[in-house]
Amino acid sequence: MNELELLKHIYATATAPSAEVPIPPGDDMAMVSVGGRSILVAIDQVVAGCHYDEAVTPLSLVGRKAITRCLSDVAAMAARPLVSLVAATLPVALGERRATELFDAVRETAEHYDCPLIGGDIAIYRQVAGPLVCSVAIMAEPTGLGPIRRAGARVGDRVYVTGVLGGTRADDGLGHHLLFEPRLAEARLLAETLGQRLHAMIDLSDGLGRDASHLAERSGVQIVFDAERIPCRSGAPWRQALSEGEDYELCFVATGEVPSTLEGIPVTAAGEVCRREPGAPLVVVRSGGRNLDATELGWEHRSP
Ligand SMILES: [Mg+2]
Repeated sequence: MNELELLKHIYATATAPSAEVPIPPGDDMAMVSVGGRSILVAIDQVVAGCHYDEAVTPLSLVGRKAITRCLSDVAAMAARPLVSLVAATLPVALGERRATELFDAVRETAEHYDCPLIGGDIAIYRQVAGPLVCSVAIMAEPTGLGPIRRAGARVGDRVYVTGVLGGTRADDGLGHHLLFEPRLAEARLLAETLGQRLHAMIDLSDGLGRDASHLAERSGVQIVFDAERIPCRSGAPWRQALSEGEDYELCFVATGEVPSTLEGIPVTAAGEVCRREPGAPLVVVRSGGRNLDATELGWEHRSP
């Protein structure tokens, strides 16, 4: 099963956007208008064997990741988190002590990021054996300019990446993919600093190639990266940095001067926005004088 194909089907068959849903499915968060106020909503999940290795990962880090993955989508919109909800399905063998470790971490992480947990649901596999699944929904509010969307990149803009990419999963199964900081403060600082010059943004969960292709598609443009300018984590080749995923950094598109660091995190100009001819790839990487189609280099989620 292909996650992108399934998402396309869901978007195509979704109810048409209404005045109550100014941002429909297809961005990092949807936006609803409630009583004249705009609220952003998103849901994400962490699944044993898919998003972490259950043999080596402490439940405290699983609970942390369930919240921080969702907060990375809040960062992508330069929004401020409000509240969270959690729903978990647990193997019966997990036991009460480990289940408590999981939920304590969910609650503590949510509070740490000013996104208190206000409810949820727990189910336990009894008839069948299944993997631990922890789903988190977050509500957030736009700040300053309003939510920064995936659409808005213009020909001639530059494409920037925060931090370093690739090597997110260490040999022992642990590492950055469990311990990353969602770029909430950096995103809001960016929106404040650049104002209207910040044209589009996405967080990097599925790999720079695939995530940038979402930006390009929504904006109706082509993004061209320079392989030598992709900021790679030490030891990670650019192809890995482009395709591995779980970086949870920001990829944004802007015009004019852009700061070289945000809250101490490096910001790298890695590409540019170009006109996209019909049928041309959404994302291209220039390497050694050749143009490679990077659209399909991103990490594809598949069903376990
Ligand atoms: Mg996202």
